[in-house]
Amino acid sequence: MSEEMTPGDLHGKKGKKPAVPPSEGPGIWMQLAVAFAVFLVLSAGYSAVRKYIESGADEIAISQLANDIRDDKVVSLTVEGDTIKATYKDESEKTSQKEGEAPLTETLARYGLSPEEIAAIKIEIQDQGGARFWFLTLAPLLIPVLLLLGIMWFLSRQVRGAGMQAFTFGRSMARLISPEDTVQKVTFADVAGAKEAKAELAEIVDFLKNPKKFIQIGARIPKGVLLMGAPGTGKTLLARAVAGEAGVPFFSISGSEFVEMFVGVGASRVRDLFQTAKKAAPAIVFMDEIDAVGRVRGSGVGGGNDEREQTLNQILVEMDGFEPNEKVIVMAASNRPDVLDPALLRPGRFDRRVTIDLPDRSDREAILKIHARQKPMGPDTNLMVIAERTPGFSGADLANLMNEAAILAAREDRKEVTQYDLIRSIEKVMLGPERRSHVLNKKEKEITAYHEAGHALIASVLTYADPVHKVSIISRGRAAGYTLKLPLEDRRMQSKLEFLDDIAVSLGGYIAEKMIFNDITTGASNDLQVLSALARDMVTKYGMSDKMGPVALEAAPGRTLFGAGIEPGELSEEVSAAIDSEVKKIVEGAYKRAEDVMKKYRKVLDAIAKQLIEVETIEREEFEKILIAHGIVPKKKEDIEHQPLV
Ligand code: ADP
Ligand code: ZN
Ligand code: MG
Repeated sequence: MSEEMTPGDLHGKKGKKPAVPPSEGPGIWMQLAVAFAVFLVLSAGYSAVRKYIESGADEIAISQLANDIRDDKVVSLTVEGDTIKATYKDESEKTSQKEGEAPLTETLARYGLSPEEIAAIKIEIQDQGGARFWFLTLAPLLIPVLLLLGIMWFLSRQVRGAGMQAFTFGRSMARLISPEDTVQKVTFADVAGAKEAKAELAEIVDFLKNPKKFIQIGARIPKGVLLMGAPGTGKTLLARAVAGEAGVPFFSISGSEFVEMFVGVGASRVRDLFQTAKKAAPAIVFMDEIDAVGRVRGSGVGGGNDEREQTLNQILVEMDGFEPNEKVIVMAASNRPDVLDPALLRPGRFDRRVTIDLPDRSDREAILKIHARQKPMGPDTNLMVIAERTPGFSGADLANLMNEAAILAAREDRKEVTQYDLIRSIEKVMLGPERRSHVLNKKEKEITAYHEAGHALIASVLTYADPVHKVSIISRGRAAGYTLKLPLEDRRMQSKLEFLDDIAVSLGGYIAEKMIFNDITTGASNDLQVLSALARDMVTKYGMSDKMGPVALEAAPGRTLFGAGIEPGELSEEVSAAIDSEVKKIVEGAYKRAEDVMKKYRKVLDAIAKQLIEVETIEREEFEKILIAHGIVPKKKEDIEHQPLV
């Protein structure tokens, strides 16, 4: 039902952006149906036209015509193919159909006309030439053929558009950004923060600009640079910036594009990519999301994927195959460097590794500034405040935040983005859009209010917990309510005491529900999962349990050892049991402390819950007023800084 979360927590749960499949346009059946309908209309039209051309006059039977001739009503006949046009004395015209190959005179004779009667009529045989003849004869043949050709052309265009590349598979499909392309050009100025990474990459830029300088002195230039970092930290952006700075062509391809539909295509794409790049040298080849092909070979369920292995082998071959003075630099990006095949990381391949961290506060401000460049900012905007409130956000999240704010402003027909737009966007990016339509009934509302009040109270009282920034019972994304905590600082490390308080805070919702309603809802399940996992990590990863001591009992998942994945946790039964009992001890300890706080400050709990039911969302200032009214001193930055080191 509810979760308390810090921006950082949530970040980890968001996977990569889902890849958008290439659009296929309207379905192929739809297109065929349309083609068929067109065909029907055309043929109907054709027969109408034909009728019209042929029946300039009334059509009569040949026997009728013979009778009319006998009665001397007819002046002349014109024969054109099988059609007989008769001109009558009263100047009307009628047509009739001759039968088969027989000459007209013979046909008329058969209908009982005497030779004299026939001779009296002027008969004109017209050659079946002219456009009309050709049209009438050929159209029934030509129209379907033309239609077919048209459909084939149309379909082939669609197929190509759909990215199937039925005619060009094996070609690299690399996207090229040429140095002349000023629209797509990215430079280091477009990348905020990431100072260390930029410094490392400046060297590469230098080499691409003046390769001679390096080659003359006999320096070995790195062939491969691997950019590592969480999703959205700007790896792709940085790679493009290197190309932009150096002014060289930039060939980029994503790992998933190597491995497509046809076996063997991945490898041939790699070959093609490198060939093209060598021709354009100096150039950068960029392989994005390389973990899609570069995973450790020979591990994984059901053996390796042959296609992937061939592709990977081809990459290795190509990287070994070209000389440093070929002036092609291979860059790759991955957010899972831990699963990469060690062969890729060997010297002479991706031996330069550049790590890009999540941005810290000042970097976040700089990134926000970059993305505010194209948007008119109102006078009240203060990007520093926004940067402070967004620890754990990646560059992509911040870009997204700016965009959401602009959308909010545009929706309300304003010309400028205000600070309030930005603040609302933080939560939208972090938790998903508000779901005001998700109405809680009275009882649910009460339970949610006490649950969140429980989290918020514990977080405010315990020393090492992050202070509360906002409490709300408006559901957002998957959470029915939420308590936002914000660390006062950006943190790279966490201590045992902080973990213990975090666990107690996570239990806050559960304990409050139990204490007030003497019942527990499913809303606490996510809290319990999070805190159990945390407690377990404390014991097995961080050496934070006294009994187990300073040993890491579980390898990080996916960690590789000599090219093979090690399976986490083949622990003896006693050790497993000991871990379980330590985890239990940690959680029970936290439970006890949280429960004590809850009992002692029951009045505050009621006050917070009551206000939540009334106004649904409490911001920090209001929240602190409640605390102060009940004698709790809100946490300040200074308090935390003066805490003893543990
Ligand atoms: P990654 O490849 O690491 O997943 P991207 O390079 O695709 O991330 O970043 C996505 C977007 O986020 C970029 O297009 C850019 O708009 C924004 N972004 C990320 N990092 C930065 C940064 N350091 N400075 C400016 N914008 C950034
Ligand atoms: Zn909760
Ligand atoms: Mg990327």
